[in-house]
Amino acid sequence: MKDLNHIRVLGTGTSVPEKNVFPSSYLISINKRLMLIDAGQGICGRIISLGYCLDKIETILITHIHSDHTMGIAEIVMAIINDDRISQHAINICISSNYINFIKHELMHPWKKWIDKCSKIQFNYIPLTAKKTNKSDLYQNKPFAVNHHPGSLGMLIETGGKRIAFTGDTDIFPIERENLKPADILFIESTTDDNHKIPGHLTVSEAVDLIHRTGIPVAYLTHILPQYRQNVIKSLEKCSKKEGQHIKTAEDGQIIPII
Ligand SMILES: [Zn+2]
Repeated sequence: MKDLNHIRVLGTGTSVPEKNVFPSSYLISINKRLMLIDAGQGICGRIISLGYCLDKIETILITHIHSDHTMGIAEIVMAIINDDRISQHAINICISSNYINFIKHELMHPWKKWIDKCSKIQFNYIPLTAKKTNKSDLYQNKPFAVNHHPGSLGMLIETGGKRIAFTGDTDIFPIERENLKPADILFIESTTDDNHKIPGHLTVSEAVDLIHRTGIPVAYLTHILPQYRQNVIKSLEKCSKKEGQHIKTAEDGQIIPII
């Protein structure tokens, strides 16, 4: 299965640590070339423990600046720099133009001396803007504005013949205006059950309502706080279903084939 094109759910969690659950993050593998969506704490080790190689990661797309989406970037960069088995490699780090300076000059600051000196790895910072498509020979990505920290972006990625949308963290936003309908799969956050709304995030019913408004056929709830995980799963069973849509909770380590 791992040799075929797929999405690997590296984590479905949040900033709150949980046994055997990692911060919400995904690898997309197309012809064994990898794209990483978000990189929270512990994701570098998670990627290795699942049998992937860091030097196959060509692109890291970051939805926003919070630590459970970014702390893994330095882990990955330093692991590559310090691993003599990896020779020449280039990685694109794509993030909202508002955040590039933070990542480059503040988050990576403690390792600046080693990063600047390292010639075997090339790190390209690519600024993302809502509605402006960026692409490589591996993918095409059209970021869209969401409602979380200023500058947070969802990603609509077309690769391997499929369109996969990731909201990243968000509160309710006018999802129908973002033209996500052509997507085949949606990953949407659902941080809490309906009784514990946290501003800036979605409850399970809010997430399901947004999914209904997109018409996307397959959707996965993710970014779930540990204390509400069981309630989110139970609430999802009770939520109204729309014909032609399959909504599930994503699972840590899950492989979703891209066929
Ligand atoms: Zn966040």
